[in-house]
Amino acid sequence: MRAKLSNGGCSSSSCGSSEAPRDMAPEIWEKIKDHPCYSEEAHHYFARMHVAVAPACNIQCHYCNRKYDCANESRPGVVSEKLTPDQARRKVVTVANEVPQLSVLGIAGPGDACYDWKKTKATFSAIAGEIPDIKLCISTNGLALPDHVDELAEMNVDHVTVTINMVDPEIGAKIYPWIYYKNKRWFGVEASEILHERQMLGLEMLAERGILTKINSVMIPGVNDEHLIEVNRWVKERGAFLHNVMPLISDPVHGTHYGLTGQRGPTAMELKSLQDKLDGGAKLMRHCRQCRADAVGLLGEDRGQEFTLDQLPEQVSYDPAKRAAYREVVAQERGDHVAAKSAAVEEVRAGAAQSFLFAVATKGGGRVNEHFGHAREFQVYEVGAKGIEFVGHRKVEQYCLGGFGEDATLDGVIAALEGVSFVLCAKIGDCPKDMLKAAGIEASDDWAFEYIETSLAEAYRGKFGGQVALRA
Ligand code: SF4
Ligand code: SF4
Repeated sequence: MRAKLSNGGCSSSSCGSSEAPRDMAPEIWEKIKDHPCYSEEAHHYFARMHVAVAPACNIQCHYCNRKYDCANESRPGVVSEKLTPDQARRKVVTVANEVPQLSVLGIAGPGDACYDWKKTKATFSAIAGEIPDIKLCISTNGLALPDHVDELAEMNVDHVTVTINMVDPEIGAKIYPWIYYKNKRWFGVEASEILHERQMLGLEMLAERGILTKINSVMIPGVNDEHLIEVNRWVKERGAFLHNVMPLISDPVHGTHYGLTGQRGPTAMELKSLQDKLDGGAKLMRHCRQCRADAVGLLGEDRGQEFTLDQLPEQVSYDPAKRAAYREVVAQERGDHVAAKSAAVEEVRAGAAQSFLFAVATKGGGRVNEHFGHAREFQVYEVGAKGIEFVGHRKVEQYCLGGFGEDATLDGVIAALEGVSFVLCAKIGDCPKDMLKAAGIEASDDWAFEYIETSLAEAYRGKFGGQVALRA
């Protein structure tokens, strides 16, 4: 099974044997070590799935159109089929039997898990009864959150995401046209005042109960981009565990207000620049993939189409064997990876002068194990005086289909790699390598199947440190 891991994860989820990082209390580490969204390290090994069981929503965001669905689309709120709690139970058990990396079940739209509470509660109760070790997670806009914090704590939901895009209702009025609260529709600044107060109250209540909170903020250039520095400060003061700043996804075909009125999303470098300004505030999540609301699998992959309703058995029973076996393998592999990573980071820190961005093609397991032409995303690392830091990912269109690559697609991949100096992948042909080089990007498959950080340290030394030559 370890061989399968180095090749992108076996087909059968995990715990880690690694100890808590020095800057984290052991009880917090225990909560996040298998959660692919709360631990950047865990996302190499563990998978999440979302079930769309709570479609009703109590607010309107200018970036959301809950009617829109496209199976090829990957963005929050998008879903191919809504499920009843019992359908969700069958789906989760089926996935747990087939995808051993599964560690987290989330309810993340479309709709609001706290507003459509009965369905959320029925789903979690049914699944916790069958798969007791699965982590339960919800995303909410926060308006109805304070009403359900105690029940969330009783159900052992210890991860809650709240989308907070503003702490200034004047800015909120540009994002939320209305909210529905206490049987009444509220508009404009008044609506955003209520939403803001409820979000802050909910956040404080979660922190008091030891529930870990992640704050999602959508970065909307010209609306709240600079304001998110203020949001970061407010949520940190109220005990938020992570702050996840995500780029606005806006396109007229999505039929959203922002899409139809031409509001643009930020570029990858604008997002990175804001994230860099937030360094030192609430801890940032940089590995979010803005998943579909019915996503299944490791972050960055979506196996949802393998588990549509028509493919689910009528009767299901949970078999824990595959997940247990995978956890044992990951415990060992993860220990090795943490040691290799730590050595690589120290080595880079000791010799670094300048920072550069590296892009890595990976299918998981913490290794360089994806072909350049098969990659649908690249993980981006900043390598330099601070060591090796994961700073984000770039989604791309798959360049190579059936052995052939289109130049136009490659142009798109190169554009998506803006600011990147070096690409590491498991395999790359001469043609794309030459085109990348002409664009000022070095590419190499010399580190195929090796640990990402070890590869980055060697490549950094070779290319930029002048101490060793690049492998031939
Ligand atoms: S809270 Fe979620 S489901 Fe509701 S409008 Fe906003 S993005 Fe859409
Ligand atoms: S949208 Fe982001 S936080 Fe949610 S499951 Fe995907 S990666 Fe995790």
